[in-house]
Amino acid sequence: MKTKIPPIDLQAEFREIAPAVAKRTQAVLTRGRYILGREVRTFETNFARFTGAQYALGVASGSDALLLGLMALDLKPGDEVITTPFTFIATATMIARLGAKPVFADIEPDTFNLNPDLIQRKITKRTRGIIPVHLYGNPCRIDEIVRLAKRNGLFVVEDCAQACGATFRGKEVGTFGDIGAFSFYPTKTIGAAGDAGAVTTQSKKLYEKLKSLARHGEDGAFHSYRHVRIGINSRLDELQAAVLNIKLKHLPKWNRTRRELAKCYDQLLKKGTGNNSLPVPFFEVPHETPNAKSIYHQYTLRVQNRDELRNYLNQQGIASTVYYPLPLHLQPCFRYLGYREGSLPQAEQASHEVLSLPLYPQISADKQKTVVSVLQRFLS
Ligand SMILES: *Cc1c(COP(=O)(O)O)cnc(C)c1O
Repeated sequence: MKTKIPPIDLQAEFREIAPAVAKRTQAVLTRGRYILGREVRTFETNFARFTGAQYALGVASGSDALLLGLMALDLKPGDEVITTPFTFIATATMIARLGAKPVFADIEPDTFNLNPDLIQRKITKRTRGIIPVHLYGNPCRIDEIVRLAKRNGLFVVEDCAQACGATFRGKEVGTFGDIGAFSFYPTKTIGAAGDAGAVTTQSKKLYEKLKSLARHGEDGAFHSYRHVRIGINSRLDELQAAVLNIKLKHLPKWNRTRRELAKCYDQLLKKGTGNNSLPVPFFEVPHETPNAKSIYHQYTLRVQNRDELRNYLNQQGIASTVYYPLPLHLQPCFRYLGYREGSLPQAEQASHEVLSLPLYPQISADKQKTVVSVLQRFLS
């Protein structure tokens, strides 16, 4: 019988925490306080501690975390924000939502992250900030980006949606820029049982503003009904916070396991599972950014005949994934920005060559070996 290997296994993850979740969510339902209760307060405190940020605010999604961050930094129509074209759509649409213009700079071919060396030439009089993304859980060269931003008077919003707990020079991502935006979408490394997100900052002023903006621009206390700015409704639910409080305790262990599993793939892919080693030129294993510790939200290969390999893996019951098949500058919704095919060649090439293998803390060594031996069979 063929082994079926999913890209991730949320049911296996849930089995680890099921009794705790049952107890804690039941307590929330029994208390009858569903919005901004003690689970949310606890989560915000613990999440700030986990990320090393001064302040953390729970919000409704990672997309809202980005949007609120940009609102708090007063992004205005006509402003420009430089970001990567090789990311989830929300990184750029949240800029456009506020009437500002996303400006795409190309990525590094080895890490797939925004290339700091290509940012300077994109800066104009209208540039207000930079949104780097720590793609696949691998930190970008955030120190250089922050330095460049400071030199040019720009803000930095870090998109940490895939990188909760990843570090650069020993410091957690989300604490380098003005604001860190996190997503707890179920398939992220710490996922809620639905949509959820968080924003982090080191600035009390920004924190107060973020909090107000997420609660319809309310001034001070919740339900004061005095609105000093035009905000949105974006809160972390009490039930989601209860689930996240449980998962946050497991996250350091899960992240460590992800790193070990990634090293295991590295080894297997280098050596092969049998006697004959793999034809290395056909693919590249992930490159971790120097001085960074990736949490391997994705284990992403670069493969020339990607689509063929993907079909083959699929036939053998192995689900692989492509993040992302179309770079943002070529998305129909951004046609008005005027990019063409060839505008950002590294991102375009990556979109044809990336392939993420199944990786989740509960995957077995046997399954990893199966993935690699099937890959090996395809290549030989
Ligand atoms: C998931 C993700 C988001 C959006 O998060 P949601 O919680 O789904 O709104 C933003 N940026 C990146 C890089 C993501 O992976």
